Amino acid sequence: MNSPVIYWFRQDLRLEDLPALEAAATDSKLIPVYILDDDAAGDWAPGAASRWWLHRSLAALADDIAERGGKLILLKGDSGDHLARLAAQAGADTVYCSRRIEPWAREQERAVAETLSEQGVRLRVHPGSLLFEPEAVVKGDGEPYQVFTPYWRACRSQPEPPAPRPAPDDVDWYESGLDSDSLDKWQLLPQQPNWAASWDDYWQPGAEGAAQKLHSFLSGPLADYADGRDRPASDSTSRLSPHLQFGEISPRTVWQMAREAEQDPALSGQAEKFLSELGWREFSHYLLWHWPDLPHAPFKPAFEKFPWQQSDTALAAWQQGRTGYPLVDAGMRELWATGYMHNRVRMVTASFLTKHLRLHWRLGADWFWDTLVDASLANNSASWQWVAGSGADAAPYFRIFNPIIQGEKFDPDGDYVRRWVPELKDLPDRFLNRPWEASPEVLEQAGVILGEQYPQPLVEHKAAREAALAAYESIR
Ligand code: FAD
Repeated sequence: MNSPVIYWFRQDLRLEDLPALEAAATDSKLIPVYILDDDAAGDWAPGAASRWWLHRSLAALADDIAERGGKLILLKGDSGDHLARLAAQAGADTVYCSRRIEPWAREQERAVAETLSEQGVRLRVHPGSLLFEPEAVVKGDGEPYQVFTPYWRACRSQPEPPAPRPAPDDVDWYESGLDSDSLDKWQLLPQQPNWAASWDDYWQPGAEGAAQKLHSFLSGPLADYADGRDRPASDSTSRLSPHLQFGEISPRTVWQMAREAEQDPALSGQAEKFLSELGWREFSHYLLWHWPDLPHAPFKPAFEKFPWQQSDTALAAWQQGRTGYPLVDAGMRELWATGYMHNRVRMVTASFLTKHLRLHWRLGADWFWDTLVDASLANNSASWQWVAGSGADAAPYFRIFNPIIQGEKFDPDGDYVRRWVPELKDLPDRFLNRPWEASPEVLEQAGVILGEQYPQPLVEHKAAREAALAAYESIR
């Protein structure tokens, strides 16, 4: 009889297409465990929105395991200590887990392996969260890529990612009275006020919700993805990001189903665009793997000297969606209300913070970390640096998003702004993104009192743009 083994769930809250779980479930009794280890994560412990998601996702995973006859053990504290204790209690000789690429998680993995080895227990780590492992894609000279297009070309010239695997059948669960916390005890959900009260209208965390999102996206919005993905008012993107972030669905599953959809000639261009967005997720994780300082240090060292401003008032206005620029404010309010912001608007709001307000990108990244349900150290850090101009393959600094033009171009009917900034809903389209240009009569007719129930612009666009360019000149 083999010794029992432990499966240590981390950011892979699913049963399907999970190589480490499949290996663990072969020929041994299985103990599934999740450990909330905020100390190991340090600054990158899940933010408030991610904690909401985590609670719901763990509940879904625990149900999936219970349906198959097992019990998910929940523990809080040091992962190494808990795993070593569990292994000793159950007589387990191996712990399996999926690899994570965040610097703190790599360090955690090393520490856990060391603790376990002291009592003769092995830690077996398998890939599972990416399509292409970061070490496997390098330039001819062995150095990592810094530019997306050649990186993605190199990925695409590799063999296709293997087809996803089903959840292991007939798992032989270890049955015993091992202690487990109750999820409620961890207080991951908001207490008072409950800012997530309506989030169930938007999200269904867990593997089932992820699979449904993927199916409904591929059978609907994909048909218009290449253009539709830029219009924040239309539901044209997959909204898979939190599901991917928590590992509720494997990227190989998403990849394979999108590749199948691509066989339909009417969808092939759309699917290709979608696959390349998955490529950006790969690239961000690749960057974090090769440049572990990415979350706190500028990728381009010249930006160390960038003359950032400091203003708590401006930061608070941005966070609360009260900058006086309707598209920026709509995005920040969507984020607060739903834990999500559309990608186009993430770019505009991030550009506004770093260029119009010249506040450090880390302040924005921290706010997103706390408020996004899909907060990902890799995607968030790489994207913020990309917008700020300090990142790998970043947008040229002088391309400063004009929040007025962006609103008029990508939200031409004003549906997005009217939804999230309802105090402007009666303004005619032509003034919706520039209310300060409307005459007193137009404002009065629309019931808008600028400077009272909707703010005057925090900064003037042209002057802010020129100041940003001058700041950039100073570090060139
Ligand atoms: P879709 O368009 O359906 O794309 C499918 C998947 O591809 C996404 O779920 C995501 O996993 C990946 N993806 C798409 N765009 C990007 C991108 N630009 N970079 C990396 N991966 C991408 N994404 C996160 O998952 N977590 C973050 O913390 C995060 N922070 C961001 C911060 C800023 C300032 C910006 C500009 C972008 C950020 N993004 C982040 C990337 C992107 O905005 C989201 O992935 C996307 O909006 C999620 O919506 P979706 O699932 O409908 O995307």
